[in-house]
Amino acid sequence: MILLLLLASAAFAQQPSTRDMNDINWMEFREFVPSRIKTVLLPTGTVEAHGVANNGADNTAPLALARSMAPRVNAMVAPVLNYGVTGSLDGYAGTFPISEPAYRAFVSDILTGLARNKFQNIIIVNGHGGGQTAILTDLAEKIGREHRVRIMVVNWWAYCSDVTLKIFGEDGGHAGWNETAFIQSIDRNLVHPERYDASLATARPPAGTWTAFPFPSSIILYQPGQGYPKFDQAKADAYFAAVTQKMSALVNETISKWNAAHLFE
Ligand SMILES: [Zn+2]
Repeated sequence: MILLLLLASAAFAQQPSTRDMNDINWMEFREFVPSRIKTVLLPTGTVEAHGVANNGADNTAPLALARSMAPRVNAMVAPVLNYGVTGSLDGYAGTFPISEPAYRAFVSDILTGLARNKFQNIIIVNGHGGGQTAILTDLAEKIGREHRVRIMVVNWWAYCSDVTLKIFGEDGGHAGWNETAFIQSIDRNLVHPERYDASLATARPPAGTWTAFPFPSSIILYQPGQGYPKFDQAKADAYFAAVTQKMSALVNETISKWNAAHLFE
């Protein structure tokens, strides 16, 4: 009798035992998707040098962010796509790119697979910019149209640039204060202030001025003189919380507008 009650309460639980698709089993997945959970967060990143943070920062950040957002937007979290289209930082030790055709084909199959598993909303929480964003945006439209599934692509650091200004009082950069702080908040062991020197940073050249391959710094400041990492744990934690909040609000608002317009129902 007790066992039956336990089974019954498990079957009708409002929350799954985990929101990670990696960790849930197929029986529980079927109980929740799509009847009670219609949204999946897909974290995408790459392996690329990041100043004194880990080479996998672009994977660490969107995965932790997606896990933090998942209960707020009632979503599952798909396994993070750890490899991507690394660009001008390809020359740094331990980093390399996936070719565009291979990346495109792989992501296309992942999006198709998520659609076939009956998710109505696929939110790509992207952790890496450059050419990768354009490929993801293009695939979102192509797969969305083909499978009548709603797909959103969001670059968290760009969407939250106002949060960067608010928390740090200045603009950030690739592996700058903002991104390094985000990683520091997730796991301070992934950041090495003892290796930091301001000479590791270069301001992003204004368009049309100069380019270099490999780029001479892996810390690339969006504005000259702003975004040097300062390793403040309290600000790092406030930043992570504020980014989670703003990203979750965007996803909830977008889904409610998709619903209100009865798109792809
Ligand atoms: Zn990054």
